[in-house]
Amino acid sequence: MSNVRTAYLSLGANLGNREETLRKAVQRLAAAEGIEIRAVSSLYETEPWGKTDQPRFLNVAVGLETTLSPEALLAKAQEIENALGRVRHEHWGARTIDVDILHVEGVEQNTSELTLPHPYMTERAFVLVPLAEIAPALMVQGKSVAVWRDAVGEKGVTRVKTSDWAI
Ligand code: AMP
Repeated sequence: MSNVRTAYLSLGANLGNREETLRKAVQRLAAAEGIEIRAVSSLYETEPWGKTDQPRFLNVAVGLETTLSPEALLAKAQEIENALGRVRHEHWGARTIDVDILHVEGVEQNTSELTLPHPYMTERAFVLVPLAEIAPALMVQGKSVAVWRDAVGEKGVTRVKTSDWAI
């Protein structure tokens, strides 16, 4: 592939068969034109963030290489959210699947459509713990992911399954 960039995504689910939904999302990413999956973290169960009276989430981090533009990658992520039946009830509320783009190599932008790096990625243990498993040395806002992870700690985040994703 020419013009390839490394990118990291965070996937989360807290309704229905959460593991199955995450697995299907990873499979859809792997099948997409212009995307090669390079790493998938273990599965982590996490306390809901923001609105706390909702089921616990399963989260996973995915590392990939892509020839897609950041906007095209976002469109693919949203297509997968829609295909897997995400029903949006409220901000930070329960959802079948949520796909966030955390980081795209060499890209810093803040548009109405897409902010990169993801503005909250350095604050959230449910993002940083899975991401630190697959990309501890990735630099974000001047610090490595491992350093950001150590700063927020691992409270509320439990590894429930070692990565055995067939990719
Ligand atoms: P949510 O599903 O609640 O995470 O928010 C989705 C919205 O956030 C979409 O309309 C995107 O355009 C916007 N957005 C901005 N930056 C990002 C990002 N880095 N990853 C995913 N969505 C983003």
